[in-house]
Amino acid sequence: MKYIGAHVSAAGGVENAPVRAHEIGATGFALFTKNQRQWTAKSLTEESIKAFKENCEKYGFTMDAIIPHDSYLINLGHPEKPKLQKSRDAFLDELQRCEQLGIKMLNFHPGSHLKKISESECLKIIADSINWALDKTETVKAAIENTAGQGTNMGFRFEHLAEIMDQVEDKERVGVCIDTAHAFVAGYDLSTEEGFTDTFRQFEQIIGFDKLLAMHLNDSKKELGTKVDRHDSLGDGFIGWTPFELIMKDERFDGIPLILETPNLDRWPEEIRKLKELEN
Ligand SMILES: [Zn+2]
Ligand SMILES: [Zn+2]
Repeated sequence: MKYIGAHVSAAGGVENAPVRAHEIGATGFALFTKNQRQWTAKSLTEESIKAFKENCEKYGFTMDAIIPHDSYLINLGHPEKPKLQKSRDAFLDELQRCEQLGIKMLNFHPGSHLKKISESECLKIIADSINWALDKTETVKAAIENTAGQGTNMGFRFEHLAEIMDQVEDKERVGVCIDTAHAFVAGYDLSTEEGFTDTFRQFEQIIGFDKLLAMHLNDSKKELGTKVDRHDSLGDGFIGWTPFELIMKDERFDGIPLILETPNLDRWPEEIRKLKELEN
């Protein structure tokens, strides 16, 4: 069983996200539990939490099918102490919001070295940040996303994700979310069957499918290896349908959220329908 959905809007309250996901025919979804461009947000109200859970139940979304994305402002690998702490506090707040909502995992980008520290120092700080935040929460898992490698962002190689996870103490509560567009522009050629097979052979060797908590399904407006992050609708970009067909027929991708972050919202119902057809 595959959970297929998109990153839907939570405008008006998190309880609206499952309603919007249902409207596009999704069986899973992603959301922001607070404004992704602001540092702080009001706490979730009891009514909002209750309505979120009720709507998930009403529309048949299991908690295994839901993965929020954290704020874009957070840098868990920040080289400067005060700014790092600000990021850590915001990350902790995001994890706590997930726990309040009964959500099992939070997706985030690892962090950036800003040319002030080495890559391995940055990866160590990221792991320390995850340890710090997991220690203050109970159940929610940290799902590290692979990145396009724009600027000084870490996480564009599977080895980066593995190096972070090696240094996380609670192995049960850390895993990864793989974004197809990010992987492609980072140099993993998912556009052919051969490239797909090789990429996920490397993934199994370096990270392991037991650590795969979610996927982001996006085509790419930019070419292989360009390290520029521009998502495209499925089939419209340089990746094409090949990897999405292969994912839908591959049981290693069962039981996790498969989330569209494609730019044309009007096409989400069609993209979801086509993905579901490929599964059968
Ligand atoms: Zn992301
Ligand atoms: Zn993504």
